[in-house]
Amino acid sequence: MILTVLQGTLSKGRIMSDSKIYVFSDLDDTLISTKGKLPEGVSYETGAYDRDGAPLSFFSNHQKTLVSLLERANAIIIPITGRTSGALGRVNYSFQSYSAVSHGAVVLTPDGVVCDHWQKSVYDQPEDWFMILEKMNEQVQKYIDVNNLDARTRVIVDQNIAAYVSVKGSSAALEALEPMARDSLLGLHRNGRNLACLPPYACKKQAVEHIKQFLSIDTDDLVLGMGDSITDLPFIRSCHFGVIPVDSQIDRELVCE
Ligand SMILES: [Mg+2]
Repeated sequence: MILTVLQGTLSKGRIMSDSKIYVFSDLDDTLISTKGKLPEGVSYETGAYDRDGAPLSFFSNHQKTLVSLLERANAIIIPITGRTSGALGRVNYSFQSYSAVSHGAVVLTPDGVVCDHWQKSVYDQPEDWFMILEKMNEQVQKYIDVNNLDARTRVIVDQNIAAYVSVKGSSAALEALEPMARDSLLGLHRNGRNLACLPPYACKKQAVEHIKQFLSIDTDDLVLGMGDSITDLPFIRSCHFGVIPVDSQIDRELVCE
């Protein structure tokens, strides 16, 4: 009788430990940071390179330890990032599963090619989003020129998908440009020196939901969402737990002192 109970307990324990862990994670300011954002005195290693191959972002020891912890638990880490597919390739980490890049506008399979189903859903959009992004880019450029703002704008096309309008600049410049972005048909991401105007398919939550279809996630499996930006919150809410860096945009929004 005692043996039977014990076996039952072990059996339950085995079932629990067989659960997989899936981690949908933003990259910049979540798993890697630029040098200026690293905690003072912390050790670090290269997290990503620029186009010329020079180190540009870093894993702090805390970020690297978090990644190691997930690796030891055999977690499947799925990047959900604003980086383009090219910039994802410059991250100093070998991701093994699906990924969503360009704010979710592009979903890549584990082989690094665009997911056919995703591409079809984007190409089937009735609107010409490339033209809409081009017009928005022109409008933003004109505003920058007329007001002599410290900002630059361009349309990002990633894997032949019109992904988003990327505006980089000073806080004051982005503050001035934000109302124009809000008044447009496009979605808005703003954090730090980045502002992005997004077509409806550039949506991290939609990309996460799309990827989930291919992962055979069991009811008992654990799904984590990690991110630092307000625009990461919808996809984090598609997971069981959220991991949010302290002093990130989300954290600052939550502080109620
Ligand atoms: Mg981020």
